Amino acid sequence: MGRPRIDLHTHSTVSDGTDTPAGVVTAADAAGLDVVALTDHDTVGGWDEAAAALPTGVALVRGAEFSCVAAGEPGDPRGDIPVHLLGYLFDPAHPAIVAEQARLQGEREQRLRRMTERMAAAGFPVDIDAVFALLPNGASAGRPHLARALVAAGVVSSVDEAFATLLYTGSPYYVEKVDTPAARAVEMVRAAGGVTVFAHPLARRRGRVVGERVFVELAEAGLAGLEVDHPDHAPADRALLRGIAADLDLVTTGSSDYHGTNKTTPIGAETTDPAQFDALVARAAGLDVLAP
Ligand code: AMP
Ligand code: FE
Ligand code: FE
Ligand code: ZN
Repeated sequence: MGRPRIDLHTHSTVSDGTDTPAGVVTAADAAGLDVVALTDHDTVGGWDEAAAALPTGVALVRGAEFSCVAAGEPGDPRGDIPVHLLGYLFDPAHPAIVAEQARLQGEREQRLRRMTERMAAAGFPVDIDAVFALLPNGASAGRPHLARALVAAGVVSSVDEAFATLLYTGSPYYVEKVDTPAARAVEMVRAAGGVTVFAHPLARRRGRVVGERVFVELAEAGLAGLEVDHPDHAPADRALLRGIAADLDLVTTGSSDYHGTNKTTPIGAETTDPAQFDALVARAAGLDVLAP
């Protein structure tokens, strides 16, 4: 075997991806990956299906992407900044995790309902039933579901266009959800035996990004790594993040953030260095990586 290929950030139909959990591990195999992490937004609901469908030759890292907030720059009237934390190898039955994921499921559902209502009130041909029909039982509701309903209704021609023109953070139809303070999520995942990686920290096209003090604060709380190689990161930002990781003794990862056909990036488009992966797993005290 050559150098292992490792992708630590993917989504399934259990959140806002378009492949089932079994489909994600199958796609990982087809793309020649040796290790894949399933990291649906705020849920572990796809773990069992992915594990049961694991092809020979692919190892599974069980994870989730936690919706969080971090402090903006001091004095910035815009307040907190939404950020995402990838948690890996944590005990899914840890009471704090169970409670917070349940709370976020409720937030997500209510918020998507309110966004859909705002758009319907403004005359867009979308309704709650059409949006929620795109959600399998218990899946994490997200803006991409509304985006797909808008594509299906012919309002926009792609999910990307829906985000760019109608669903971006701060649009008239945007409704906030109450996310977890990032430092608390880091501590929660650590208490459950897992490790956390700051997902796409400098994905500027999504809106404001955090300043350096947030990296320091999260590292102090026990953050294990930074996702450096991500499709939404410019080359200069990748270099910046590598420097921050070196200063703060953090692991660096690279991942596709695969969402099936909701995004254009193929699975395995970005990968994690095997030595960095080993260092990340060594920091975890919870679940094992599931061997093929
Ligand atoms: P939500 O979790 O409901 O706030 O929606 C955020 C999700 O929307 C992210 O996890 C991405 O999957 C997706 N997303 C965010 N920005 C964009 C964009 N500009 N184009 C396409 N998808 C996006
Ligand atoms: Fe997503
Ligand atoms: Fe994310
Ligand atoms: Zn993601």
